[in-house]
Amino acid sequence: MALHVRGVLLPDDEVRDLWLVGDRVTFTPVSGAETVVDGGFVLPGLVDAHCHIGIARGGAPITSLDQARELAHIDRDAGVLAIRDAGSPYPYPELDEEPDLPRLARAGRHVAPPKRYLRDIGVEVDATEVAATVAAQARAGNGWVKLVGDWIDRGVGDLAPAWDADTLTAAVQAAHAAGVRAAVHTFSESAVEIMVRAGVDSVEHGTGLSLDLIDEMARRGTALIPTMINIATFGGIAEQARGKFPGYAEHMLALRDGFPEVVRAAYEAGVPIYVGTDAGGGIDHGLAAEEMLLLHEQAGMAPIDVLAAASWGARQWLGFPGLVEGGLADLTVYPEDPRRDLRVVRAPSRTILRGQVVR
Ligand SMILES: [Zn+2]
Repeated sequence: MALHVRGVLLPDDEVRDLWLVGDRVTFTPVSGAETVVDGGFVLPGLVDAHCHIGIARGGAPITSLDQARELAHIDRDAGVLAIRDAGSPYPYPELDEEPDLPRLARAGRHVAPPKRYLRDIGVEVDATEVAATVAAQARAGNGWVKLVGDWIDRGVGDLAPAWDADTLTAAVQAAHAAGVRAAVHTFSESAVEIMVRAGVDSVEHGTGLSLDLIDEMARRGTALIPTMINIATFGGIAEQARGKFPGYAEHMLALRDGFPEVVRAAYEAGVPIYVGTDAGGGIDHGLAAEEMLLLHEQAGMAPIDVLAAASWGARQWLGFPGLVEGGLADLTVYPEDPRRDLRVVRAPSRTILRGQVVR
């Protein structure tokens, strides 16, 4: 049974008719199709380009595929029809083609330094093992690896790179040699500089970015996934750490306070920015709309650019074609124009995933 959709198609900004036949989009009329959308604003399905469906609320690894499904359904029901999982301690390749789950771009486990990163989440290895571990985790994912570029070093009392610069650079090279893209977690100024110059594909968080590095990212086309929702939690992290690590606490607060300007500068420089919530562990799933609003309100991104960052732009970046002839039959519909008032993204009026009405 084919479905028929009519509405203002974004970003084209025209009333269009399209038909969904199985999991594909066509602009050629299909007789007998059921009309499931008539009016409103139609976008290619949203993307959460940084979240974790392998990490349960509270931070422990999930222990079953059903838990991953449950978390992915929360995102789906908020209009997110594709996810990039930025590191999972629990493998779930079985879910890649599951019909009622968002499309999945997945990293394997985080590759992290010993005894520094979140407990039980990463594969923790010293410098000599990083490149081989990256190659193994490339095989565990489906197109991405996740590197932990920095974290608190309790010996130093502050953020510090996970390994030396040569090792970090070799990690990016190992990912590319394995045919996958590399995403790096960084909060600090020092690690992000190494990783951008090493040619990493995406900077996750990126609180330590300087204007020079932002220019370098724009030149290289390196993506930034700011996860502003996550950065807003730095106050709590700082207060917990203040007793033992006052320098780290102050550093985290300064990074938090400067972050809206970092994202604004990246936006103005033309760095590709995508919406990611960092859900999993400490942050709830289903908050893509809130991240979109933060990018608009705190970093000054125009609504049309926020929509690109959450929809057609992110889909293109991840290899999930949007609402073009032969594209994938995922769409999110809003009753009003989200370009005029972005808050409408909080409540899609219709979502269709793989050619099937979800709600
Ligand atoms: Zn994350």
